[in-house]
Amino acid sequence: MLVVMKAQATPEEIQAVCAHIEQLGYRAHPLPGAQRTAIGITGNQAEADRGNLESLPGVAEVIRVSKAYKLASRDVKEEDTVIRFAGSDAAIGGRDLAVVAGPCSIESREQAFAIAEEVAAAGAQFFRGGAYKPRTSPYAFQGLGLDALKIMAEIREKYGLRIVTEALDTETLDLVAEWADVIQIGARNMQNYSLLKKAGRLRKPVLVKRGLSATLEEFLMAAEYVLSEGNYEVILCERGVRTFADHARNTLDLSIVPAIKRVSHLPILIDPSHGTGRRDSVLPMARAAVAAGADGLMVEVHNHPEAALSDGPQSILPSQFHEMMGEIGQIAPVVLRRLPRGIRVEAAAG
Ligand code: PEP
Ligand code: MN
Repeated sequence: MLVVMKAQATPEEIQAVCAHIEQLGYRAHPLPGAQRTAIGITGNQAEADRGNLESLPGVAEVIRVSKAYKLASRDVKEEDTVIRFAGSDAAIGGRDLAVVAGPCSIESREQAFAIAEEVAAAGAQFFRGGAYKPRTSPYAFQGLGLDALKIMAEIREKYGLRIVTEALDTETLDLVAEWADVIQIGARNMQNYSLLKKAGRLRKPVLVKRGLSATLEEFLMAAEYVLSEGNYEVILCERGVRTFADHARNTLDLSIVPAIKRVSHLPILIDPSHGTGRRDSVLPMARAAVAAGADGLMVEVHNHPEAALSDGPQSILPSQFHEMMGEIGQIAPVVLRRLPRGIRVEAAAG
């Protein structure tokens, strides 16, 4: 259920309505909008008892939200969510496209710094790198753990890039949250509800990757788990799903962008690296993602992909990343977006 406050409702009136909702035994989620504040109500198994909510000062109306996802829905919050990062021009969800780039895994300080230097020069605002890796084989490289987190913190200091890295389990979540700017929940963990809930109790942005075979509703319900715990900074990321098609590692479902935009205010990034699994497909799909209205991209970049400890075949070279930035910078204005750090086509020559 949703309480829509009047445009002129005062902060005290909003607070009084929240207190009343909590008294009824539910949880109140005040979500300020450009025109008015809406207060989402969760914690009710069935239709919540409206009590006398409608008669409280400042209340315009009380609406039933019929969708399974509530706080993720545009019914509850009409305006697009924009996630900002203090002390940086980095943002996810606004007019500026957010670009997250870096290796699949942090393999060494030298490797991470060499790649960070290139992606920062090309205009990325975020650096990615796995510290804890979800690998199909238990014998494959599992990540450098805390050492990798420390390397990325140094990269944030040196290049001003915000750090995106995956939390693989509830045991290491707090540690990841301490070092990262955005906590990534991987595709395999999209339905790990205890991990999602715990991430929801943090006050750090959470990037939820779409599960390998998740429907739109399942994807948004994963986001809802984080939101329902009071963390409203959630970013969605499409990274390809399993289909019968075998020309690519996964099938990148770009059609989910307009579908998400229709029903949800949450930003959505596209990951053309895991989405295709092929270096030669990353650039074309990155262009298409921007044209489709995605809020940004997550791309794997490696300076020696042939020697990468994970996801080498889908990692693009720094020179290709420069080229990608030049191209998406030109497509962006067509869809009323822009690359905040400009188009640095000239850098592609380097
Ligand atoms: C990754 O981003 O390196 C990763 C493991 O992604 P996904 O969870 O989408 O497979
Ligand atoms: Mn990867």
